[in-house]
Amino acid sequence: MSGERRPGIATESIHAGEIHDGSGAHIAPIYQTSTFTFSDMQAVNDWADGSGEGYIYSRGGNPGRAALAAKLAALEGYGRGPDVAEPIAEIFSSGMAAIAAALMGTAKAGNHIVTQQVLYGSADHLISGILPEYGITNSRIPGLDPNLLENELQHRSNASVVYLETPANPTLRVVDIAETARIAHKYGARLVVDNTFATPVLQRPLLLGADVVVHSTTKYINGHGTVIGGAAITTDRDLMETEIASLIRFTGGVPSPLDCWLTNLGLKTLPLRMARHCSSAATVASFLDESPRVAETHYPGLAHHPQHIIARTQMSDFGAMLAFDLGDYGAAMQFLDRLELCTLAVSLGNVDTLIEHPASMTHRVVPPEERAASGISDGLIRLSVGLEDPGDIVADLAQALGR
Ligand SMILES: *Cc1c(COP(=O)(O)O)cnc(C)c1O
Repeated sequence: MSGERRPGIATESIHAGEIHDGSGAHIAPIYQTSTFTFSDMQAVNDWADGSGEGYIYSRGGNPGRAALAAKLAALEGYGRGPDVAEPIAEIFSSGMAAIAAALMGTAKAGNHIVTQQVLYGSADHLISGILPEYGITNSRIPGLDPNLLENELQHRSNASVVYLETPANPTLRVVDIAETARIAHKYGARLVVDNTFATPVLQRPLLLGADVVVHSTTKYINGHGTVIGGAAITTDRDLMETEIASLIRFTGGVPSPLDCWLTNLGLKTLPLRMARHCSSAATVASFLDESPRVAETHYPGLAHHPQHIIARTQMSDFGAMLAFDLGDYGAAMQFLDRLELCTLAVSLGNVDTLIEHPASMTHRVVPPEERAASGISDGLIRLSVGLEDPGDIVADLAQALGR
């Protein structure tokens, strides 16, 4: 075998970034410490003039956090050619902390954010309710339609960032990452992509031209529902050091050593889990699509999904998030109350199947008129297909839909 051989993504998920600390421990310990000792004043002075290395204080950095960051950076850069620089990552205490740092790192008072209509509820509120108070304005382009985006950026010379989520939460609308990056860059704006639904196993935005990728690691990356966490990954070292890493250090949204350790453990099986998640979701989507009780099924893998071709082009599989419409509020309530296996809860990407009603739960903070504009109807249900036997998931949905 030639020296050119690169490990596969499952191998990378298991081995990239792993710490071998000299104790012989097979699994890295949890560095449950707030501070780190200096050997002497020379070491203090080396740290102060930047020539020393190592850890000082766990808000600035911790070995387990660095290990998780290295693994995630390796996955987001997996398969990159020489034209894409090696990514670096920072880990946060939540997906929202990562999104806030990515947006505050790319937009300052007087700047403007252009984003799509449908967004994760809290990201929506950050952009439309919080950042404007700090002088960062925003506008919405449904689906980030390329012509409308180009027109918007022509008239917004202060737009410094385009923010997108694909597939989007909860409607599963897909946005073309490469095309959006091309247009953003033409007008001097950066592109930040929330890759939570797809994960780097299915979609790698940095390879398609995005400047920053953000994640809620709470979801598929951890995968077991034990941690709230986030990450930001970029190929722009300067942006990472002067903005994103600086923001985590000075606003303090850092993850605990235990949370990093649990997330790293979950991440090792991400490729394996995604394969099963995707195949089960395809089964569930075709069942729902054929059910006379379901008005509409939204899943990027269905041929009638409006952006099915874009999804095919930029994703290696279609993920395990889907949404379906039961027509009205009453039908949705009755269905949700009849479920036995599927768990009524917000969040997603866990080993077990989670189901929720966006209008009452995840997207309750979005004003009703905006919900309607985003396609979040009162009959819409969001499903995160888990790793149970797919026949059991379908049987539960079937009994709850009724005869
Ligand atoms: C959950 C989620 C977030 C927010 O992440 P937290 O870890 O809950 O802060 C952001 N984007 C998407 C797409 C999500 O699903």
